[in-house]
Amino acid sequence: VLRLDQVRKSYGSNAVLRGISFQVRAHETVALLGPSGSGKSTLMKCINLLEEVNDGQIWLGDTDITNPTVNRDHCRSRIGVVFQQFNLFPHMNVLKNVTLGAIKVHNMPKDEANDKALELLDRIGMRAKASSYPDQLSGGQQQRVAIVRALMCDPELLLLDEITSALDPMLVGEVLEMVAELKTKGTTILMATHEMSFAHDAADRIVLLLNGKIAENGSPREVMDESQNPQTIEFFSHFR
Ligand code: ATP
Ligand code: MG
Repeated sequence: VLRLDQVRKSYGSNAVLRGISFQVRAHETVALLGPSGSGKSTLMKCINLLEEVNDGQIWLGDTDITNPTVNRDHCRSRIGVVFQQFNLFPHMNVLKNVTLGAIKVHNMPKDEANDKALELLDRIGMRAKASSYPDQLSGGQQQRVAIVRALMCDPELLLLDEITSALDPMLVGEVLEMVAELKTKGTTILMATHEMSFAHDAADRIVLLLNGKIAENGSPREVMDESQNPQTIEFFSHFR
C-alpha cells in the first residue's frame, strides 16, 4: 500500500530524515516509534504531502506521490489522517465535522455522506452525539470522531500521529480500542505513538526511527524484546 524509498527531508541544516525506506503492506498495522524530535511527524507530513521531500520517493499503491506532476488532492484523498489535537472544527457539530470533507473535497452527495457518517458513528456508540459540538465531548470522544471522519472516504491508508498524546490517561484506552478494532477489520494503519504496550501488543510491525534513520524494522518481539542494538535497548529502557 505504502512504500518509502530513501526519503530525505531537511529543515535548513537540520537533516531530519536521512534516507528512510520501509513499507506498509495491505491490512498491516505498523507502529512508528522514536524519541521526541526524531522526525515521526515530519515523515507523516511527507506521506500526506503537507511537506515536500528533498529526495527519494513515496509510493502509494502504484503512484509515486512525490512526483511533481501528481494530483496532490487526489493523493491526499486516498489517505485518512488524524493528528494529536485540534482535529475538529469547534463551531460545527459532530455530523458536520465528519461529513464536511467528504462533501466539499470529495464531492460525496450530502445524503450519502450523512448516512455513512451516522452508520460509522453508530458503530462506535456515538450516533446520539451527532448534533453535539466538540466542546460537549470528552477528548477521547473527539478523537474517535476524528477517526470516523478520516474513514469517510474509505482511505487506502490511515495515518495516526500520536492521537492519544494529548488525552487524559483515563481516555487513552477507548481510543486505542477503536484502533485495535479497525485493525481487526483489515484497515491499513501507520501510527506514530509513545504507547509502547499498545505498540507491542497490537502492531504487526515496529519501525524505530533514531537519528534520522531506521534503526529497527521488525515484529514487536524482534524489536522490543530481542534487539541487541545498544541504541534500541537504550530507547526502550525509558519506557520500563
Ligand atoms: P514528537 O514525538 O515530539 O512528536 P517527532 O518525532 O514527531 O517528535 P518532528 O515533529 O517530526 O518529530 O520533528 C523532527 C525535527 O524537525 C525536530 O528537530 C523539529 O524541530 C524539526 N521540525 C519539524 N517541523 C519543522 C518546521 N516546520 N520547520 C523547521 N523545523 C521543523
Ligand atoms: Mg510528532
